[in-house]
Amino acid sequence: MTMIENNLGQIHARMAAACAQANRPVTSLQLLAVSKTFGADAVREAVLAGQRSFGENYIQEAVDKIAAVRAMALPGGEALQWHCIGPIQSNKTRLVAENFDWAQTVDRLKIAERLSAQRPAGMAPLNVCIQVNVDGGATKSGVIPQDALALVEAIARLPRLMLRGIMSIPDDTPDFEAQCAVHKKAAAIFDEIKACGLPGLEQFDTLSMGMTGDLEAAVAAGSTMVRVGSGVFGRRTYSTPTP
Ligand SMILES: *Cc1c(COP(=O)(O)O)cnc(C)c1O
Repeated sequence: MTMIENNLGQIHARMAAACAQANRPVTSLQLLAVSKTFGADAVREAVLAGQRSFGENYIQEAVDKIAAVRAMALPGGEALQWHCIGPIQSNKTRLVAENFDWAQTVDRLKIAERLSAQRPAGMAPLNVCIQVNVDGGATKSGVIPQDALALVEAIARLPRLMLRGIMSIPDDTPDFEAQCAVHKKAAAIFDEIKACGLPGLEQFDTLSMGMTGDLEAAVAAGSTMVRVGSGVFGRRTYSTPTP
């Protein structure tokens, strides 16, 4: 067994235990393996261990990696799912629209409009999550909670995007109760948007939160997708280019 295969097993065990603790079926929770800074070989290893969805932060690094693993034969014509989870600048929207299946970090209408306009006609609509700055960090990206619904409403009208949910990246804290408190805020925003009955939200089903260090708290609060990097691939040991 490879290290990555072993790590994936441990993360799935943590996910299953957290779901059991929260009285949720394990099928209500997905694992996004965050492969930023790791090479195509690490991704291939994870794919061979059954992982299909990958998250990337740095667009150019991701585009090269996606191309490198594209030729992998998967059983039954399955495809890998690539999620952009890093900041998206205007000059990178075309690369995201042409290469990714999901963009989870949309926090401005202008970026959403560019992604919709640039999504190639031959591809399925780009799945989008609104990034919400739940804990109010002033320097962080993400729409403030009060503006989330208006942004959702505007994005739901864009033809080449499919609004899938919200994502959050709260500040790091080792304290479980503090983790739960901030994840519950994100869950409340998610529930509120889902309940508002807007057209275009038929597939609004994804609450992306929880990483290696706060997976359990995120699942307790209702996360449907945890984004796990170091827990799957090991410690990130080299610095990365700024996006
Ligand atoms: C790097 C990253 C992760 C994974 O973090 P780990 O602590 O390594 O699990 C998840 N989400 C985002 C947005 C990231 O940038």
